[in-house]
Amino acid sequence: MIKAAEESTQSKCPELTMDNFISGLKRRNPGETEFHQSVEEVMTYLIPYVQLHPKYRKAQILERLTEPDRVIIFRVCWQDDHDAVRTNRGYRVQFNNSIGPYKGGLRFHPTVNLSILKFLGFEQIFKNSLTTLPMGAGKGGSNFNPKGKSDDEVMRFCQAFMTELSKHIGEDIDVPAGDIGVGAREISYMFGQYKRLKNEFTGTMTGKGLEFGGSEIRTEATGFGCIYFMREMLKHQSDGLEGKQCLISGSGNVAQYAALKLIQLGAKVVTISDSSGFVHDPDGLDEEKLEFIIDLKTVKRGRISEFADHYKLKFYDKQKPWSIPCDLAFPCATQNELDEADAKALIKNGCQGIAEGANMPVTIGAIKSFQNAKLLFSPGKASNAGGVAVSGLEMTQNSIRMSWSSEELEQRLVEIMTNIHQQCIRYGSEKDYVDYVKGANIAGFVKVADAMLAYGVL
Ligand code: NDP
Repeated sequence: MIKAAEESTQSKCPELTMDNFISGLKRRNPGETEFHQSVEEVMTYLIPYVQLHPKYRKAQILERLTEPDRVIIFRVCWQDDHDAVRTNRGYRVQFNNSIGPYKGGLRFHPTVNLSILKFLGFEQIFKNSLTTLPMGAGKGGSNFNPKGKSDDEVMRFCQAFMTELSKHIGEDIDVPAGDIGVGAREISYMFGQYKRLKNEFTGTMTGKGLEFGGSEIRTEATGFGCIYFMREMLKHQSDGLEGKQCLISGSGNVAQYAALKLIQLGAKVVTISDSSGFVHDPDGLDEEKLEFIIDLKTVKRGRISEFADHYKLKFYDKQKPWSIPCDLAFPCATQNELDEADAKALIKNGCQGIAEGANMPVTIGAIKSFQNAKLLFSPGKASNAGGVAVSGLEMTQNSIRMSWSSEELEQRLVEIMTNIHQQCIRYGSEKDYVDYVKGANIAGFVKVADAMLAYGVL
């Protein structure tokens, strides 16, 4: 009898190994390669941790954590400027609300699919937890491509998208923000439509304009936070940013403000890119050049090669910046943009540290190369958490119907990034190396897992 009971417990709870876990995940989520990749990276650390803490195993926390609370998929129909009817697909992945309302951005890009949104939503669990603010995790978006569309077309799409999404979100339920392809313009159109449909003015989206409930430094927060995080990593090695030669990829929101903070703190930014290639500026960007880039990308919606043409700099068509010698590298464009070959080039050229500004821009193989070479490496869930942190502060300001000054908010951002760094040190310190990936994953996990344990079986 006892033997039978033991056997049945074992069959319900197979041995927790990386192979078992990942093969089960792949079976349940076929074809979702980005989601598999992000779970694999996290489980490399969480499985050994959970093996040492059986309370999480017994409650099947890892299995529950990798299954979203719900996924909403919907049709979005809108009319283009020629009165043609267009159909796109909209998504919201509400991943986990154990420690607060679902929170995470919306991405509008032709590559958007369920796998990408599940990877982003999953990462958001740990990132939001690390900020210490009460935010759960979600992510959403559409395969709509804002590039080449008129303002009117973008407005009609955003209104149609929000008409459906509004049924599933709310200030205490789910609070979306921006991401790739969703900036101030798109947030404004969507928030306006939400306000109209619900006949209420609440902080149901973040990244809003300053005139209607937005927060100071939200636009700058992800890029600034990334640089503050790198500053902490360097400080831990008794080093600093001054005079460091830096590579940045991307030229969108994160890249722009990572570049600005580096310039302000005395570092030299020698590359910037977009999906068509990169620009090398051996003298380094200054604030005037950066203003040109910000106007080019956010107002004129042009290509980064136009920046190279204007300042007579070399543009490398369809190439990535990682072969240029540097001290520090900041991948700030998109997932899997820095692979093992790129990592080898960076290591060979003497790079000292890499901080992810984008989500999962570095492949698992490249992360291992950096770690084997004992370089400083921070995962996006730690180093790009500044954006969602200031979004959390925007929610607080909306709730108390107050707004704080940019000085106060930047001070809070610095404190949050410093705190995340300390959590990484606490959980990721090894004999002669800080494994920031381990530190961020375990620190982010513990709070959410303990909340899930407290709720019982849900
Ligand atoms: P933007 O849309 O403002 O900019 C994206 C940039 O990345 C553009 O320069 C774009 O080039 C480039 N890019 C996009 N796809 C590719 C590709 N396949 N290959 C090369 N370059 C590409 O987005 P954000 O700056 O907001 O986001 C960048 C990254 O940061 C994303 O991974 C996002 O998830 C992450 N992130 C953003 C936060 C935020 O607050 N905005 C918060 C936390 C993370 P092009 O102009 O040619 O499309």
